[in-house]
Order: sequence, then C-alpha cells, then structure tokens
Amino acid sequence: MAEEVKEPVMSQNFIHDFIDEDIAPGGQYAGMTVHTRFPPEPNGYLHIGHAKAIFVDFGTAAKYHGICNLRMDDTNPTKEDVEFVDAIEEDIRWLGYDWAEFRYASDYFEDMYQFAVELIRKGLAYVCELSAEEMSANRGDINTPAVSPYRDRPIEESLDLFARMRAGEFPDGAMTLRAKIDLASGNFNMRDPAIYRIKHMSHHRTGDKWCIYPMYDFAHPLEDALEGITHSLCTLEFESHRPLYDWVVDNVSIPYHRPRQIEFARLGIDHTVMSKRKLRQLVEQGYVSGWDDPRMPTICGLRRRGYTPTAIRSFSEQIGVAKADSTVEYSFLEHCLRADLDDTARRVMAVIRPVKLVIENYPEGESETFEIENHPKHPEMGTHTVTFSRELWVEAEDFLPEPVPKYKRLYPGGPECRLKGAYLIRCTGYETDEAGNVTQINAQYDPDSRGGDPADGRKVKGATLHWVDARTALTAEVRLYENLFSDPAPDAGGKDFLECLNPNSLEVLTDCKLEASLAEAAAPASFQFMRQGYFCVDSRDSRPGAPVFNRSVSLKDSFKK
Ligand code: ATP
Ligand code: MG
Repeated sequence: MAEEVKEPVMSQNFIHDFIDEDIAPGGQYAGMTVHTRFPPEPNGYLHIGHAKAIFVDFGTAAKYHGICNLRMDDTNPTKEDVEFVDAIEEDIRWLGYDWAEFRYASDYFEDMYQFAVELIRKGLAYVCELSAEEMSANRGDINTPAVSPYRDRPIEESLDLFARMRAGEFPDGAMTLRAKIDLASGNFNMRDPAIYRIKHMSHHRTGDKWCIYPMYDFAHPLEDALEGITHSLCTLEFESHRPLYDWVVDNVSIPYHRPRQIEFARLGIDHTVMSKRKLRQLVEQGYVSGWDDPRMPTICGLRRRGYTPTAIRSFSEQIGVAKADSTVEYSFLEHCLRADLDDTARRVMAVIRPVKLVIENYPEGESETFEIENHPKHPEMGTHTVTFSRELWVEAEDFLPEPVPKYKRLYPGGPECRLKGAYLIRCTGYETDEAGNVTQINAQYDPDSRGGDPADGRKVKGATLHWVDARTALTAEVRLYENLFSDPAPDAGGKDFLECLNPNSLEVLTDCKLEASLAEAAAPASFQFMRQGYFCVDSRDSRPGAPVFNRSVSLKDSFKK
C-alpha cells in the first residue's frame, strides 16, 4: 500500500557537517560508506517523534548514498511483543523508507556475553552484589566517589560468578556485572555502570535461553559496531552516555571501526504526549479506541486520520535538526498536511449538518446533472458528475431565520446565493418543528443561471454554497477531531496528563449527506469537502453502504509563521 512519496531534499545540518569531516580525505571514515541505523524498542507503536528520527537516520544515509539498518532494540525482555515489531516495519515502509538489513539486538546476545567475559578477563568488569537500592545509595555525589566493596574481587571469582549468573543460579537483582571505569568520575554514567543484570524472564525471540540481559549502554555500542555503523544518530539524552559508548567499543576486541554517536534534539509537539508509556496508558485505559485512534500522535493514528507520508516527511524536513530541544506547534503539523492535500485531494460536496432545501419552482420529479471540477488548480484532474433535483441538502449553518450583520447566506428576503456549479437561488421562507428547529428551507431558483452564472451578468451578492441532491445522497458518519489534550503542555511540570484531556476531542455526526460519487471511496482516499476541510475514509470502521469519514484537518490554517 506504499504511496508515492515526494522526497524533500534533506537540508544540510550539523550532523552532516560532522559526516562531511569524517568522510573527507584524512577523515576517520574516509572512503567508507555512510551507515546509519534506526533502533526502535518494540514496546509500542511508532509516533511522530520516531518519524523525525527515521527521517534523520534514513534521510542522512540517503543524502550520502549510504545505507541504514532497521534494528529492533529488544535487549529488555519485559514488554516486547511481535505485534509491535510488525507494526514498526509497516509504519516505516509506509513512510517510504527501506532498510539495508533488518536486525534484532537479541541476535548479538552471545557476542555481548563474550565481550563481557573479555572485559572481566582484562580486569575491566566485575560482579557486584550490591542491590539496586544499595548501588544508588553508594553512588556518591559530585565531591564523593561511589563505593563498591566488590570492585577488587579477583578476576577468577567474577568469571565464575558471571558464568553462574548466566546459568541461572541467582535470583533477580542478586548481583550485576559492572564495568570498572571510574568511581570518582564527574559523569555519573562512568561510575562503574551496571552492564548486565539478572532477569528470569522469557524473551520474545530467545525464549528462556537467557536469564541475564545486557544494559542498553553496553549493548547499543556493540550492536552498532558489529553492524559496521559509521554514524549512530540518537537523541540528546544520550549525550552524557557518549563517553561510556566510546569506552565500551574501545575496550573490547571488535575488529571494526568505532561508530560515532551524534545527538540531536527530541521532537516535542504541543497538545500531545509522546512517551510510549503514556500512549500505552491512553490505550489500555480506554481514553482512545486504540493505538491507531485518529487522535493519537502515532504513525498508525496519523495514517488513519488521513496524514500522508509526504506530509509527515515534509514536516520532518521543515522542523529541522537542532541541538536544543524545542516544542513544535501541532498546528504546524496540520499546516504540512493541508499543504499536501490542497494539492492532491479531489473536491467534493458533503453536507455534515444537513437541513432540507426545497426549490419551489423546480419541476417535481425532474432532475439533471452537472459536471463539477475535481480541483480548481488542476484541470487535468478532470470533473465528476453530480445530480440535482427539487430537494437538496444544505448546511444548517448556511441559513438563519434572522440575519446577523454582514450575513451573506440564506435567510428570507436575503441576497441571491449560488449553489456551487448549479443555479442561483433566493430564500423565500422556512418551516420549523414544534420546538422551533428549522426543518426546511424554501427557495426559488433562476432557471437561466444554469452552471451558476446569471444570464444577464448581474452581480451575485450572496455566498456560494455547497449542496447535495437529496434523491441520490449517501448517508454517512463523519468524525470531527480536536486536539486530544486541551492543555498545550500535558507533559510539563507535575501535571497529571490524564487531567489535561480535551473532553471534546471527538464529535461524531451520524446523518451527514454526501454526494453519490463518494459511494466508491475506500481508504486511504482523501477528499476536500468543499468549505469544510479534508476528510478521509476511515480504514477501520467504514463499510460499503455505511461509510465513515474522518476529518483530517479543517481548511482554516491556524499556524502563524
Ligand atoms: P519512549 O521514551 O517514549 O519509550 P524511546 O526513545 O525509548 O521513547 P525508542 O523506541 O527507543 O523510544 O526510540 C527509537 C529511536 O527513536 C531512538 O533513537 C530515539 O532516540 C528516537 N526517538 C524517540 N522519540 C523521539 C522523539 N520524540 N523525537 C526524536 N526522536 C525520537
Ligand atoms: Mg528507548
């Protein structure tokens, strides 16, 4: 289902400046192919923040005619799942990227174990029996070094204990393997970090083969080095881990070059949360209908909402790659989608809050057809046929019994209005039910204005309105969305993000009237409902005969440059 993606050229950024230096003659990777990787942990679905990382990893490789691996970072056995692995692959492909090699970090468990043994043999790692609490109590502070009473235990003893850790002789948390680096380091990540821990837990790929698992800071550099990665691009929180990254690769005998870790800013977007833990909570506690709920910032949610790969890639390009964290406005993401759909989406008519319009002087039982352009700026996109008859649906908000100042739409005695592509009409009256709700608008049309223009060239003072023929209309459900969170920063400070949810983030309209040409529409098709916004067929709930549409984005651009 890969769509054609318009490739934005990835602009030069500070990462590329480093790479230029590295591959230049005399540089550390002179003559080598630039090789990056995208390393998601398969414990959730990818979100728009990951899309940025994907853009940076794959886009950078492409810029240098290099390659990028996809690697499932599955060193942590607790929450990983095949469902997520499959979804991650699908999302990356959908975004329009392809990887050189598909790997799992768990493929390297045996290598990692052997490298750990090598470190012990070299006197660079030891088995420590402090519990997690004791270890953090003994971390020291800026002025005081950390302490471990096990640091100087004989190499043979550590080798023996580590082998027995692997053999399953000890319970979870009883001991760890620690790198022997510097207990007094100003960088706390270097104060003899744990590199292996005991965890009696099945792994989604290795099953019960292992009960010890490597820590991220030990595993990640090894994975990169074993795959021949040249540039390991990651987010800023890993900056202070870089000395450890380098230490690991430099102290084991890997017959490869050392990859260069370069950090860039994480993407944050207002009115949403991005942490997988929080997204999972929204799903599991039923605040949304699933990971692909169209309000979610996940790739599958955005896809179901009607986002296109082109829009997401263009967003990723335009937000840029910087060294300082910042928050991007959600309205900018919408702006990027609107720009893409404005260019590609077919224009159709749909009335989402319908009221009947009866044209009193139009002959009963008759009908005719009109050709409506598919795109005002792209005549090559052609036209489509709509039917017209005496009874139409129009938008309830296009009528007022009593006009307000400057109101140019329908009201009794009001100005002549244009029914898009059809005829000029004038409102003559209306009917209400007992509660006073408008149930019908009456109008007269000018038979000489076929196509929407008056024969005598008089000026049309009213608005152009969209409409749908009541005889052929398709009844559909339309879902309107707003931000999932009304608070712009649900993640900030000590807030409970669940308290920040927007109670009006979903509005379901069940009796919308769509022009008949939409009967054949199937996901992932997107349309502009004239005067309303961009809508797509819901990929999960839409059925032939019972269509469901999602509003992807409204027409009004609230993004201010
Ligand atoms: P979380 O904390 O939500 O679980 P994570 O960073 O642990 O996110 P991973 O699956 O490990 O998620 O992420 C894979 C890659 O995507 C990493 O290189 C990570 O730096 C990057 N990434 C994750 N979130 C963002 C973000 N918001 N902006 C940019 N890159 C991100
Ligand atoms: Mg992670």
